[in-house]
Parts: sequence; structure tokens; C-alpha cells
Amino acid sequence: MDQTPKTAEILCVGTELLMGNTVNTNAAFLARGLAEAGLNLYHQTVVGDNPQRLREAVELALSRADIVITTGGLGPTYDDLTKETIAKAMGRELVPHKESQRWVEEYFLRLGRTPCPNNQKQAMMPEGAQVFQNHNGTAPGCLISGTGRWEGKQAILLPGPPHECEPMFWEQVLPLLRGGSRLVSRCLYFYGIGESDLAQKLDRLMRESTNPTVAPYCKPGEVMLRLTARVAEGENAGALLDPVVEEIRQVAGEYLYGTNVGNLQTALIHTLLAKGLHVATAESCTGGMVAQRITSVPGASGAFEWGAVTYSCETKRRVLGVSQRMLDTYGAVSAQTAMAMARGARRKSGADIAVSVTGNAGPEPSEGKPVGLVFIGVDSDAMTTVQEVHIPPTGNRGREYIREIAASQALYLALQAAKLTVSRENPHQ
Ligand code: ATP
Ligand code: MG
Repeated sequence: MDQTPKTAEILCVGTELLMGNTVNTNAAFLARGLAEAGLNLYHQTVVGDNPQRLREAVELALSRADIVITTGGLGPTYDDLTKETIAKAMGRELVPHKESQRWVEEYFLRLGRTPCPNNQKQAMMPEGAQVFQNHNGTAPGCLISGTGRWEGKQAILLPGPPHECEPMFWEQVLPLLRGGSRLVSRCLYFYGIGESDLAQKLDRLMRESTNPTVAPYCKPGEVMLRLTARVAEGENAGALLDPVVEEIRQVAGEYLYGTNVGNLQTALIHTLLAKGLHVATAESCTGGMVAQRITSVPGASGAFEWGAVTYSCETKRRVLGVSQRMLDTYGAVSAQTAMAMARGARRKSGADIAVSVTGNAGPEPSEGKPVGLVFIGVDSDAMTTVQEVHIPPTGNRGREYIREIAASQALYLALQAAKLTVSRENPHQ
């Protein structure tokens, strides 16, 4: 199997993109798709609806990439010039394409309309092109193979509207780009380590590993590593992926909370369901965000039935049984109150695990406690503890950021407790 990855380039056509009237979402999803196909992408270009500048742009792209993917300008109107311009640049005549003509007619028939003469333009295709049917519009896409100076180069032309372009790419183009091999991905989820620290630990692996490739994606407080292996017919994906996963575990295993789990709340619910356990929440500064994230997971009802937002001291007392003396002595934002909240939530709900959050999300210090100071408590048979976290406020999203990280930390702690708790279904698990 030829392992040398080909180079692709994205060229989006449309004056509205240049002017900033339309956000170039096509380039974003195409870039992700090309990475998934294992192609190298070094350039993305936007060019207006101008045949001369389009020709210059496409020739530049063809000179440095094996495959140029364009979107836009395939419609029936006078300013839709992509196909004509690129076919000409690649030495291909436009010829009538019977199937495209039929597709266009059928499309209009389904809508109860008749095609206008303009639509005939859409049924003209570069000679020898591979044509992609448009299931969501009238303009078919196509793959043109270059001649002469562009021998060996390919251009793939896709329509501009994202709801036409995306399905055409994923369903018809991506399988072609992948060739005989298929791609198998495995996603590893990390919590408690930043992207740069993880990247530093895995520096050599990420630089040297080509099959699978290892790519990090980060969101606040979390990092996901996607391992993508190109697997030939009859080859076992595990044989390529397992050794690399093992190597990553050796270096950063303590931060790894799940494989292919999607996020913390899903990992938590799956762990609880597998063990027949229930979790309860008692939240102050996160105002229900932990419960919201838990209940966003399908199947959460099997593992979550009790959550309280106890924002005031009065409610912390009444609902969770936190004592007034404790609140007076240590304050609402304290390790003692967090612990009492978790204990109270567990007692009131009868859940196996209860998690609590109390902190100062800002903007001002309160009770003499700085902005970003948060206490997370967990109470369970296997693990009863409080964590003190200091979340640095960032810019004008400070408050939201603190709450988001605090909720993640609470979910992470609940997950740790769930992993340690003996299964009710199978005590040996
Ligand atoms: P149509 O048949 O609609 O004319 P087309 O292939 O000619 O399709 P364009 O005319 O270039 O495509 O674009 C149609 C619409 O699709 C634009 O108005 C714009 O809203 C959207 N669009 C085009 N290119 C992009 C892009 N790169 N990202 C997001 N949206 C886009
Ligand atoms: Mg158009």
C-alpha cells in the first residue's frame, strides 16, 4: 500500500465569502474531512466570482497540490463560473451529460416545477469527469482529471450551499479519497491536563507517529486525542492502534478518563448504569449546570433522580441540612460546607454517590473569598473528599468559564467515585 499521503487544497469561490457576508463553513468541514481521509492540507483560499482571478487561484492550487477541492459557483446563474473556468484551465471541454440532465429534470418534477433553460447549463459536464449527483439541489458536483500540464492532478468541484455540499462530500467524495483503505479512529479523553502539557509529554509520539496519526483537540479543561489509523483490506485496526494507546497510557494514563466516551457526563452515566449506581447533585455557584450536563445524556434517568440548586444559605440549611453554625464559622464557600452539602444530598436522596459544588464565580470577591475559588465535595462509600480548586477568570467570559470548569470538575470527581464504587449489579466488577 502506498503510504505517502497526497496533498489537497481547498478553494472556496464566492464574492459573499470574500466580503464576509457568508461565513466559510464549507472550508471548515472540508478541512476536517480531508484530515479524516489522511490527506495533507497546506492551503485554503477564497476567491470572488471573477473568472480571471479564479483561474489564477486554481492554477496556483494545482501547481502545489495533488487534489484541489472547490465549493461554490456551480449554480445556473451568469456569475456561477467555476466549472467553465476550471474545465478550461485543465484542458477539458464541457459536454452534455445525460444523467445530470435527467437528475435536474427529476429534481424539478419532485418540486412540481419545470426546469428553466438556465438549468441546462448545470447538465454540461467536463468531458471524462466523474459526476456526483446532488440529492439536495440541482447542481451536480464532479471530479476532473487534468490533462497536459495538469496531468495527474485532480479537481473536485462541489456546490456552494452547505446543505448540498456537505452530504455530497461525506457520501460520495470521502469514500473516493480514502481509496481501498479505511480509516479507524479511537478517541482518548483526558481531564486535568492542559493541551500543551499533554502535547509536551507526547511530543515525540505525535511527531513521529504516521499510522495512526495522533491529533489533540481541546476544550476548556479537557483534551481529546484522536488516533486515526489507515487500515488496509484484511488488516486489523487494533494491531495498529493498541500499541500506541498503550504508549500514551504509560505517559499520561493518570489523566485518561475514557475511550470513545464523548465527554465527562457520558462517561459518568455509562459507568453508573453499568454498575447499577445512582448519583445526586447539590449545586450552588454552578446553578444546576452539573445536573443539566448529566441529564443531557440519553439514559440518564437510570442513574440520576435527585439534584438540588441550593443557592442561598437558607436553602443549603433547609434542603441539605447544612448547619447554621458551619455556615457562620466557615462561610458558604468553604471545604466544610461543600462536604456538608454532599453528605446532605446523599442522605436526602439515598443515592450511592453525591457531588456538591460551592464557590465564588465572581465578579466580586465575597466573604473574603477570591473569584474563582471553588470547593467540590463528593460523598460515597468508596470515596469521600473535598477538592479546592482555583479557576483563573479569563476575560469577559470569566464567570461562565469558572462555572463551566467547576461543573466539569464535579463530574470528574463523581466519575472517579463511580469507578471506585463496588457494582450493585455485579459486586466483583
Ligand atoms: P447555487 O445553485 O445556490 O447558486 P452554487 O454552487 O452556485 O449554488 P454559490 O452561488 O457560490 O453556490 O453559493 C450559494 C450559497 O451557498 C451562498 O449564498 C452561500 O450562502 C452559500 N455558500 C457558498 N459557499 C459557501 C461556503 N464556502 N461556506 C458556507 N456557505 C457557502
Ligand atoms: Mg450560485
